[in-house]
Amino acid sequence: MTHAVAQFAAIAATALFILALYWMNDPKTARRGVYAGVAGMAIAVVATWIQPEIVHHAWILLAIAAGFLVGVPLSRVPLTAVPQRTALSHSFGGLAAGLVGTAEYYLWLQEGPEHFTTFRMSALVAEVILGFLTFTGSLMAAGKLQEVRWIPQRPVTYPGQNVVNLGVLGAAVVLGVLLVRHPTAAWSGSVFPAVIGLALLFGVLLIIPIGGADMPTVISILNSYAGLAAVAMGFVLDNRLLVTAGALDGSSGLILSIIMCRAMNRSFTNVLFGAFGTVKKALVAGEQKVWKQESPEGAAQLLDQARLVVVIPGYGMAVAQAQHKVRELFDQLTKRGIAVKFAIHPVAGRMPGHMNVLLAEADIPYSALVEMDEINPEMPQCDVALVIGANDVVNPAARYAKGSPIYGMPIIDADKARTVLAIKRSKKPGFAGIDNELYVRDNTWMLFGDAKGVIGDLVKQFAGGGLH
Ligand code: NDP
Repeated sequence: MTHAVAQFAAIAATALFILALYWMNDPKTARRGVYAGVAGMAIAVVATWIQPEIVHHAWILLAIAAGFLVGVPLSRVPLTAVPQRTALSHSFGGLAAGLVGTAEYYLWLQEGPEHFTTFRMSALVAEVILGFLTFTGSLMAAGKLQEVRWIPQRPVTYPGQNVVNLGVLGAAVVLGVLLVRHPTAAWSGSVFPAVIGLALLFGVLLIIPIGGADMPTVISILNSYAGLAAVAMGFVLDNRLLVTAGALDGSSGLILSIIMCRAMNRSFTNVLFGAFGTVKKALVAGEQKVWKQESPEGAAQLLDQARLVVVIPGYGMAVAQAQHKVRELFDQLTKRGIAVKFAIHPVAGRMPGHMNVLLAEADIPYSALVEMDEINPEMPQCDVALVIGANDVVNPAARYAKGSPIYGMPIIDADKARTVLAIKRSKKPGFAGIDNELYVRDNTWMLFGDAKGVIGDLVKQFAGGGLH
């Protein structure tokens, strides 16, 4: 009976996971997608728990309590910290897979060699290697994004790095193959921890040469590794739901990585082995740079005279939590018959969809949001490009500066607008650590300050009667 229930639950949970991913495609149905995912997971947990062979209920309750203890505070992190939070979740997933594989191996050693089929042992080794490398790799990625002091933010590179990295992974795989062939040999008990150690080390080595702007792609690659580890775990435990859920997780992570690589015009190998994000010397260093500043009054007048305003939000809008003020400005401008569009760069902010989420939170209509490829042909007709805390995603150096870490990344063509108004707090560079010539161009005017404050000042100009 419980077996039939488990079968049914597995199908129901898988269907809910697929629906969750499907609904996540659109901001309008995304919330429903979250509920479907939660329901699928709850069904999966309960269906597993009621299996007759599960007897250690106290331990399970303890684990659930521990999960809540970690999970609830994690759910409260600000939106700007979601990428590192996501990396942390992957690290937990990887650790769980690695620990389950380890426990299962030693259990089988005790229970008898009949458990060690080549297939199960191969799955177990894959689970352990993928699980533990995802664990340390994701922790490193989270640490880098959180700017933890003892983890270098910059890519750490040295000659022969790729050879060393591949050597460590190769050694883990070779030892793993030995274990598959001789799982119960006298030496296997000591080779197993060596495989774990090498996988943990590889996770660290994999991330240290990667810096800056590639971290989001790496996080989604790690997501797919965590999924693959779960698939392997499903084979080890003979649990079909784990196989399907892991496959969905793994493939969606992979698809997201591909989309992000395309958005940055980079290849997978380039992301993993290219040491992107190296902080380069300022490209326009030595040239006389003139930053022209505009007052809120002047900026409001420019906006007031525009027919088409394209708002280009970036990470700074998220930091300042300026989206609600942006909504007020949107209302003021549209009330005056000015067309306002929001140009969405796929990697603006610190996570995919970051800008969409913030703008949706402020109830800005989805119809006003335009993807990069669609807005760029319109930019020459744009009267004012209002850049709100965006930097790398509007840096023209991406088009031509071959040595630049963002070379080749598609950008929003803010510089093609008739006038650019750019809001940021200082003359500091953005995420990739490079200067941006957009800010010193003839048609650009800076509005220095916190985005929320500056937009608030602009709104006052319109609402307070400073303008007609
Ligand atoms: P950037 O990080 O390039 O620039 C953000 C700008 O916002 C900075 O120049 C900063 O200047 C300004 N800023 C920060 N705080 C405020 C504030 N309170 N008020 C006003 N301005 C502020 O952001 P972009 O969105 O242009 O580009 C995203 C970058 O992040 C890309 O390089 C991308 O590859 C990378 N990335 C993207 C992820 C994603 O998935 N979307 C994830 C991780 C990285 P100042 O300090 O002078 O105020």
